[in-house]
Amino acid sequence: MASITNDIAETAVLDARSSVAAADPCAIVIFGASGDLTHRKLIPALFELAACRSLASRFAIIGFARSEMSDAAFQDSAAEAVRKNNGGCPINDNDLRSFAQSFVYVAGDYDQPEAFEKLSRRLEELDEERHLEGNRLFYLATPPAVYPRVIAQIQKAGLAQPAGDNSWVRIVVEKPFGHDLASARKLNRTILEVFEETQVYRIDHFLGKDTVQNLLALRFGNGIFEPLWNRNYVDHVQITAAESLGVEQRAAFYETTGALRDMVQSHLLQLTSLAAIEPPSNFDATAVRNEKLKVLQALRPYTPETVATNVVAGQYAQGQIDGEDVAGYRQEPAVKSDSVTETFVAAKVLIDNWRWADVPFYIRTGKRMRRRVTEVAINFRRAPHLLFRGQGIDTNTMVLNIQPEEGISIGFHAKLPGQQMRLAHVAMDFSYLAAFGASERSAYATLLNDCMRGDATLFDRADGVEAAWAFVQPIFDAWERQRRSVPAYPAGSWGPREGDELLSRDGRHWRKP
Ligand code: NDP
Repeated sequence: MASITNDIAETAVLDARSSVAAADPCAIVIFGASGDLTHRKLIPALFELAACRSLASRFAIIGFARSEMSDAAFQDSAAEAVRKNNGGCPINDNDLRSFAQSFVYVAGDYDQPEAFEKLSRRLEELDEERHLEGNRLFYLATPPAVYPRVIAQIQKAGLAQPAGDNSWVRIVVEKPFGHDLASARKLNRTILEVFEETQVYRIDHFLGKDTVQNLLALRFGNGIFEPLWNRNYVDHVQITAAESLGVEQRAAFYETTGALRDMVQSHLLQLTSLAAIEPPSNFDATAVRNEKLKVLQALRPYTPETVATNVVAGQYAQGQIDGEDVAGYRQEPAVKSDSVTETFVAAKVLIDNWRWADVPFYIRTGKRMRRRVTEVAINFRRAPHLLFRGQGIDTNTMVLNIQPEEGISIGFHAKLPGQQMRLAHVAMDFSYLAAFGASERSAYATLLNDCMRGDATLFDRADGVEAAWAFVQPIFDAWERQRRSVPAYPAGSWGPREGDELLSRDGRHWRKP
């Protein structure tokens, strides 16, 4: 395995922390502020923004939830959340103290208009005190079933529209956006009765990762890859999002969700659309999202027959991860002993357009797989005439590693030193860590900053979300009609035999990352 040095001029090394503009002054209202997402992700991300000066100096964070809590208790829990979830980065105590002081808490029920009137008064006071220019960002971090009630109360309290010409009101809606096509459409209608589409930020934190955005940088920031990025040179594409963890504490949620909803409809289709997208005319929200939508609309729809042949579900059974015995899914607490919830999905996806006709995109995701890895692998066609037969020459592959080791690796063949003409497989590796250091901003920090600056490029639009659901809906429908059992795979493997057969039938095989 060869590797090239990341030869980057000093001046070209971007300091990711300083490369983002400060956001507008604003009040951030988090609904569900006593919960897991708020403490594990949102508060640490906001601290990251505050500490690197890309949160405006004038801001307020208002937590709203049903639990009773004083401002001081919320400030303490915010400081604790930062200490616990800061990924081990050093924390300046003064920074943390002044950050936590911007937290305010409002307790209330989502059915009580008085609670929202109190919220409205608090917002006005803070606006005046801290000169927030009337800008408001609402973040829905409650269970999804609560979203419609929150939205209705925001409207009733007169908070949905900006107070002045120069101020803004935006709303962030967490994933999952609906649990099927009908509910996603209904949620879109509910939101769009109250907010304009331009106010709505449907978040999928995957898109906040630098390495996911790097798919676009690689393709459209370079002249050498794009000419190869089509059916003339690409044999097939493999997209993997594997986790070695099981369902952990989330079994109750997972039992009603499964891998198709949790991963395929969102993350895997996002990666598919970014890998397959046509060059947008510019890098703005409308152009990029228009092109992503075109890919989703070009996905060949499944029929009940093609669901049976092209989509595989699986469920992890007992096995070993890193030499340790681990329980099967059905033995996990809060999982039914006869559960048919899928913890693995593999699918052959076809894109009916000129660029990708007949190039399969094989996608797979699973829990309790051999190792944690997310990658997009572009497998190129074989050389047209093989000069070096009998040397086990494989095709060339370009792998975009999204996690855990972020980077790009291109596999090719080189002559082994020596008298004879013998070839070996080598790789050119680009590592994010080696090139840019570990100063990568967290995905939530990137997306919150985008939202406060009004940049919706990395957020889903109503039509995009619905197109993704429309693509997976026939799978749910077919499974509902037919599925009585799910193939098992041992924890610590790469999924069930049926997943391998999906490719071996086409004369291909999954990469073993
Ligand atoms: P939690 O289950 O921790 O709920 C958040 C808060 O919502 C709770 O603290 C609770 O506060 C309130 N809540 C719970 N049930 C109800 C209810 N029936 N009615 C009103 N309020 C309720 O959720 P998370 O924080 O884990 O997730 C929030 C949202 O973010 C969800 O939509 C989730 O799917 C999404 N998400 C979460 C991720 C994560 O890592 N946690 C990752 C990606 C998305 P109180 O009782 O004080 O009102």
